Amino acid sequence: AKETGRNNFQFYTPAMNERALERLHIEGDLRNALEREEFTLHYQPQVDLRSGQIVGVEALIRWQHPELGMVPPVRFIGLAEENGLIVPIGAWVIRTACLQNKVWQESGFGHLRMSVNLSARQFAQEDLVDSIAVSLREANLAPEYLEIELTESLVMADVDRAIGILRELKALGVQLSIDDFGTGYSSLSYLKRFPIDVLKIDRSFVNDITIDPDDAAIVASVISLAHSLRLDVIAEGVETEEQLTYLREHNCDQIQGYFFSRPVTAEAFSVMLKDGKRL
Ligand code: C2E
Ligand code: CA
Ligand code: CA
Ligand code: CA
Repeated sequence: AKETGRNNFQFYTPAMNERALERLHIEGDLRNALEREEFTLHYQPQVDLRSGQIVGVEALIRWQHPELGMVPPVRFIGLAEENGLIVPIGAWVIRTACLQNKVWQESGFGHLRMSVNLSARQFAQEDLVDSIAVSLREANLAPEYLEIELTESLVMADVDRAIGILRELKALGVQLSIDDFGTGYSSLSYLKRFPIDVLKIDRSFVNDITIDPDDAAIVASVISLAHSLRLDVIAEGVETEEQLTYLREHNCDQIQGYFFSRPVTAEAFSVMLKDGKRL
């Protein structure tokens, strides 16, 4: 029904709510956004807690809509996932992120790991591994500087298939991380069946570590279990000094969050690198 949204437009009645109307508009506009070059990537640093230095960066998509202004991903990623547009959009993200990381490498910031988010639809694509390989080759970027973030629910949906694809990606040489860890139902020991390198603790846990003893305990034990499985741990959504202190005391490897920096444009990120901004 969604695909015929534009054709059905004449059947619009005032009863149709505003959200549905916005959805129709957005979906139509989303179809043209790629060729109109309305997407950009913002970049959020990931900082190593031992050295205090920026060691990684997550690419986060933004849509500069001609009328609506900056549209955040929560308003269009789900839609793009449903109608399949996420596949070409996601390919653009990977290509752009690889090219950008190459630029930063060539300006002398060699050891920067670039993370991109992968959606379920992309993960289901037959040619996923090939298309990532092509992006790396076109950017002339060494594979270890690209990290693919997959959510727990995405890999748990079809475990055997997921393991197969992750092995192929690993063979290609890219880094793999599990995003939003803790929000799904899998245990860490189960996840260890997957050839992953990094665990990102979801910001909902990080948020409350200084006020909720249960969340604090969960975060501490996830970090130590992850380490015993030789995984690096990144805490997401770190906003305060108190959270940072707790994470440091519990040997978290890296942090990402507003405390250090919000996601910023490529230009602003370049300045951060040049200035040697550190924790
Ligand atoms: P995510 O992958 O969990 O990305 C982290 C989100 O948390 C980002 O929101 C980031 O701006 C936000 N964030 C970072 N630090 C803090 C903090 O200290 N406090 C708070 N409150 N938030 C923080 P953003 O950029 O709006 O992205 C939302 C989600 O959209 C992402 O969640 C990801 O699931 C999805 N997304 C973004 N870009 C892409 C993309 O290129 N492809 C796909 N498939 N999904 C994407
Ligand atoms: Ca992510
Ligand atoms: Ca996340
Ligand atoms: Ca999230």
